[in-house]
Amino acid sequence: MTKTGQKITAIRAYVVEGGGADYHDQSEDHWIVGQIATPMSIYPEYKATRTSFGINVLNSIVVEVEADNGVVGFGISTGGYPAAWLIMNHLDRFVVGKPVENIELMWDQMYRSSIYYGRKGIVMNAISAIDLALWDLLGRLRQEPVYAMIGGKVREELQFYATGPRPDLAKEMGFIGGKLPLVYGPADGDIGLKKNIQQAEEMRNRVGSDFWLMWDCWMSLDLPYAQKLMDESAKLGFKWIEECFNPDDYWSYRDLKKRAGNNIMVTSGEHEATRYGFRLLLEYCDVDIIQPDVGWCGGLTELMKIGNIAESYGKLVIPHGSGVYSHHYVTTKVNSPFTEYIITSPKGDKILPQYYPLVANEPIPKNGKLKVEDTPGFGVELNRDKHLIPINKGKSV
Ligand SMILES: [Mg+2]
Repeated sequence: MTKTGQKITAIRAYVVEGGGADYHDQSEDHWIVGQIATPMSIYPEYKATRTSFGINVLNSIVVEVEADNGVVGFGISTGGYPAAWLIMNHLDRFVVGKPVENIELMWDQMYRSSIYYGRKGIVMNAISAIDLALWDLLGRLRQEPVYAMIGGKVREELQFYATGPRPDLAKEMGFIGGKLPLVYGPADGDIGLKKNIQQAEEMRNRVGSDFWLMWDCWMSLDLPYAQKLMDESAKLGFKWIEECFNPDDYWSYRDLKKRAGNNIMVTSGEHEATRYGFRLLLEYCDVDIIQPDVGWCGGLTELMKIGNIAESYGKLVIPHGSGVYSHHYVTTKVNSPFTEYIITSPKGDKILPQYYPLVANEPIPKNGKLKVEDTPGFGVELNRDKHLIPINKGKSV
């Protein structure tokens, strides 16, 4: 890759106050705020909504990196004040003053220097946001879209399935499938299981036999329950059952996959991180599809390594949401033949941009399809009207 001759002169981290990319922080009648099965559903007082247990306490973050010549790239993740503080007080030293091209070196130093307290979670969100900002900056300096810098397109158009409460409407909007958030978990017993299956039957009747249907279980199940739900859903032609267990419970993923046979796919990885975590999901658990979030798994640099491992196992990489950051990856990969769109409109009936309103000029699928544009970097701009709180270097925020 030709050197730009540019060094990074500054890094800036912001916390997004008042919504932003955080579609969990929404009005009360938003589908994403209603009852969804979670690891906290076993506690009645935290069952009705995910905001009740604090899903929205960590706001979105924005990271900007600036080059000698004043060009700025940006990246987005979650992690709120703790992540932004780490960026400005620990990780910044591996970025500021370094040649813009040295993304691999910067990533490795950020990762190794934080292993003793990091590896996953907030630290990896922070590293991911910096990594996305670095790729965006490099593309802007080279006047190339990110997809062109990581190998070029293997297909012209991306095809999307939709996640939301109304797969029937997703079908009308042109998506190839619909993934339902599971409402009832093990604490709701057999009655809850029956209600889940009823919902699946109703939806199957509405969308017909050919439209893909899937379950998103958001880490809420145990193995006996997951097996019952899987077996009943396989009879209804469900395509996959997603993220059934606590991400640390690799043993349950392994056992569910063994019991699934060829009837339905077992998928996971939304809350997994780095090549090491995904190696376990692939090698030990044998899951059918891994679903890394590029803003959480380690950024684009790490996603490429994760994806290469998956390819060697003959498995698909279908990233979790994440708009343009996923699009630029997916369009370059043979083993990512389709991708996810999260329906963020309150009733699941409209297509809104994934980071609305934090990001301006975000492309959205038309008829379930989208062509990644040739604009440099990730091709989007920050909406400066949003309330961005700059986080300073120093002991306090
Ligand atoms: Mg999911």
